[in-house]
Amino acid sequence: VKEISAKAEQWWRGVSVSDGVAAGRVLRVHAGARYVYRIALEEAEIDVEIERFRTGVRLARRQLLAIKERAERALGAEHAYIFDAHLLMLEDGKLLTEIEELIRRERVNSEWAVKVATDRVIAVYRDIRDDYLRERGSDIEDVARRLLVALSDKSGEARGGNHGRLMGDAVIVAEELLPSAIVELDFTRVRAIASDAGGWTSHTAIIARGLRIPAIVGLRDLYRHARTGDSIFVDAVSGEVALHPSSSTLKRIQLAKSLGLADEHAKTEEANVSLDDDRSTIMTVDKIEITLRANVELPVEYEGVRRYGARGIGLFRSEFLWTQAGEMPSEEEQFAAYREVVELAGADGATIRFFDLGGDKIGLADDTEDAERNPALGLRAIRLSLHREELLRTQARAALRAAHGARESLRVVLPMISDIWEVRRARAIIDEERGKLADAGYAVGELKIGAMIEVPSAVMIADRLARVVDFFSLGTNDLVQYMLAVDRGNDEVAEWFRTLHPAVLEAIHRTLEAARANKIPAIVCGEMAASPAYAFILLGLGARELSMTAAALPRVRHTIRNIDQASAKSITEECLKCETAADVERFVREQLGEKWPHLFPPKSLP
Ligand code: PEP
Ligand code: MG
Repeated sequence: VKEISAKAEQWWRGVSVSDGVAAGRVLRVHAGARYVYRIALEEAEIDVEIERFRTGVRLARRQLLAIKERAERALGAEHAYIFDAHLLMLEDGKLLTEIEELIRRERVNSEWAVKVATDRVIAVYRDIRDDYLRERGSDIEDVARRLLVALSDKSGEARGGNHGRLMGDAVIVAEELLPSAIVELDFTRVRAIASDAGGWTSHTAIIARGLRIPAIVGLRDLYRHARTGDSIFVDAVSGEVALHPSSSTLKRIQLAKSLGLADEHAKTEEANVSLDDDRSTIMTVDKIEITLRANVELPVEYEGVRRYGARGIGLFRSEFLWTQAGEMPSEEEQFAAYREVVELAGADGATIRFFDLGGDKIGLADDTEDAERNPALGLRAIRLSLHREELLRTQARAALRAAHGARESLRVVLPMISDIWEVRRARAIIDEERGKLADAGYAVGELKIGAMIEVPSAVMIADRLARVVDFFSLGTNDLVQYMLAVDRGNDEVAEWFRTLHPAVLEAIHRTLEAARANKIPAIVCGEMAASPAYAFILLGLGARELSMTAAALPRVRHTIRNIDQASAKSITEECLKCETAADVERFVREQLGEKWPHLFPPKSLP
């Protein structure tokens, strides 16, 4: 602790994507790593913990020796030497002593001490100029991982059970937080998120806003400088992060709390919006009915779906069922998950998006070797599911079974459709699986098949596409990315990511028109729907169903009930005539800010 407070305060500036102010301890997270949380121990527990650590080291050594023997048999002794280096590290008195001292001095669990100590050594290696020595850093990472596995093997119960006090002060620091890493986090212990890369619509941002955790992206090289265990301060109101914050910086939390801006800030907003008539119909002032549904990806969000009165699930991002290791959830696991979503949605119905893998999402375990050169344009989403048909077949079976007994037919939506052929092929596969399930005696239900509209080609053929699907789902996050050719996760081009670009508005308008003409529903489910000003524009463009993270529902509901669709339509018509994104933004700011200052405070405007 002494060492930490002695370090000088250092600041970073990024882009705030989820409001709030928080302080805690850094937990560095990288893809494929295990998460470690800090557990405070009582004095009397320290000796037992040290013994547990030593047992873990012995186990890790035994495991390594066994691997080394296997490697010798398979590859010959000259290739097994690498394990000698790892074994030596497990015998390194200095490292082991340091870990034990950390356990004693800071009264923490072994896992946390291992992570803190090895992170420090890894950092030293990383700064070495010699390539060979620098590489050794990854050996240490490997040994640290092995030790953590051994520790969880031995005494998982002791660690997670009633022993010690779990610390809820983790601030996640990552280069980029992929969905596969997000799913393994324990959000009850996460206070804030800070990442080097990312944008407003990256999944880190979407989930952080949903769970009301302050988050800042675009911090460039914070990850390289932060060490697990460092004290950290995150001010997602101003977009700043401080490592080793001084006591006067930490006092800003008190100030933020008094202004209602600290982590509980969103709750004050909620208190201003009536929650009592959640379930009643939502209408604009001129009596146009709007349906608001919820987007979900993690079970921790389910509670919000009920609390904020969503009309069913408008988007379930099923790829969040995948493990970090890139393994597909089995048919039974998927069946159970979809069943739960169907039940959660109740009479208002659920929408399950079929795996949207690849791109900025989760990769397959066997694909990690050769990364795609241009993943956003690569073998992702429906392309991957058609290429590796067992993905689609398994998912179809699980969905067909989960649909049985649902009060509404279950909606499934195919991600990143760019050609009608993809819909036809997917439908054929789903029908085949339905036949096979029926032959095998399974009870199956009805599915409605929809297309995600998120690439320009789908917009251009929307009228024809509308005749072969049961509904549209507008993914505005990807639609902006692909219409404007701007990577949604790259903060360097964040300035080009213009949701109100006239081309984007035109694309949405055209898609909604095609749906209306063909009498199919269209659910807008990108992040655009969750922002009052954008929701206003969506209504003007003809949207009648919006789906968003549950926490945003009160805010958007309140907006809709206080505006009229006729004004939204006429303002939007003017927007469609603008020449540039900046012109649209200026016009929207003027119109909304002047007409409804109480609904659209300056901060909520583009
Ligand atoms: C979208 O693209 O807008 C969308 C809803 O899906 P995701 O953000 O998961 O790509
Ligand atoms: Mg998408």
